[in-house]
Amino acid sequence: MSSPVYFASVRARGDAESKIMKVRRLFDAAGFADCIQPHDFVALKIHFGERGGDAYINPVFARQVVDRVHALGGLPFLTDTRTLYKGSRANAIDHMTVAYEHGFSFATVNAPIHIADGLAGRRGSNVVIDRKHFKAVSIAAGIADANAMIAMSHFNGHDVAGFGGAIKNIAMGCATQAGKQQQHAVKTMVREENCEACGRCIPVCPTGALSRGADGKAQIDKEHCIGCFDCMNVCHTHGVDIDWEADVTPFMERLAEYAFGAVKGKEGKVGFMNFLINITPDCDCVPWSDAPIVPDIGIVASKDPVAIDAASFDLVNRQMGLSGSLLETNLAPGEDKFRGMRCLTDGCHQLRYAEEIGLGTQQYELIEI
Ligand code: SF4
Ligand code: SF4
Repeated sequence: MSSPVYFASVRARGDAESKIMKVRRLFDAAGFADCIQPHDFVALKIHFGERGGDAYINPVFARQVVDRVHALGGLPFLTDTRTLYKGSRANAIDHMTVAYEHGFSFATVNAPIHIADGLAGRRGSNVVIDRKHFKAVSIAAGIADANAMIAMSHFNGHDVAGFGGAIKNIAMGCATQAGKQQQHAVKTMVREENCEACGRCIPVCPTGALSRGADGKAQIDKEHCIGCFDCMNVCHTHGVDIDWEADVTPFMERLAEYAFGAVKGKEGKVGFMNFLINITPDCDCVPWSDAPIVPDIGIVASKDPVAIDAASFDLVNRQMGLSGSLLETNLAPGEDKFRGMRCLTDGCHQLRYAEEIGLGTQQYELIEI
């Protein structure tokens, strides 16, 4: 059986067709009103963007969802969790500061911000899921305690997962710090033949696991590596890398299991919106926003996180790739843009495994509004 995924293109001529109105219409078309009862705490899970990036979801779009939730009598709050890496959102205070800098003020979004895992990322609830990798997962208290959730996800590329959408947003984004560590659990390694001893990776490591060896090349203290992938993001030569054969498949499975835990207990109370706008090569955790790899496409909404990511993946791949971006191969319509950037990734494994564990279905019916 397929799940409906509602789609609105970015084309806009006249007020009724503005993207802002389309967010509202998508909320209604996808039946999100059924998810929310009066007095429900409604978590609007969003990524506020790392300082330095600018491709995160426009707060004006978040405002439309907030207003819809208010109209239904719900109590909306915008939420995310602290990061594992040492960036601009590594504790709740810094995180809220960046959110305000990026325009997520009360005046704009009409709702408070609540960092769901507390000041230091430790406030969580164990949610029993009884799956292959985890018996229980550590979900941020503010997400676990919410009655309903609308996950607004910026669909983009990811250096290890291939792409990130609804599944990744609720998996990594709803986990406590301990939960993020459980999901990453991948150690990077130095590929000496590729390392050019530039030293760029060393200062970005949040745990001091990286240093220079006698030959000037990077070396990793594996005991202290938390698998945040920050070093991979700054290395242009694959001098630091992961074991793609052994590590990537379980990483994506752990993501899917955490996504499963984030929505467990909220059956019928969760909606998903993916924004296929500013489709950058990297997730919004990096402190920059590289040029988009395909033109802006639109916004999709569904109650099924697997179906919405499957549809988003297909919509991106149908586009002609943008030359001058990180995408240098697979530019033709129909070709896999994410593998075009990172040939070793297979983002679809998150979809396959998420379907296998009962999070949703990859079969979707795309309904344009
Ligand atoms: S691993 Fe990459 S970033 Fe680090 S020193 Fe070597 S070439 Fe530079
Ligand atoms: S070595 Fe790389 S992946 Fe490991 S903690 Fe440091 S920056 Fe993160």
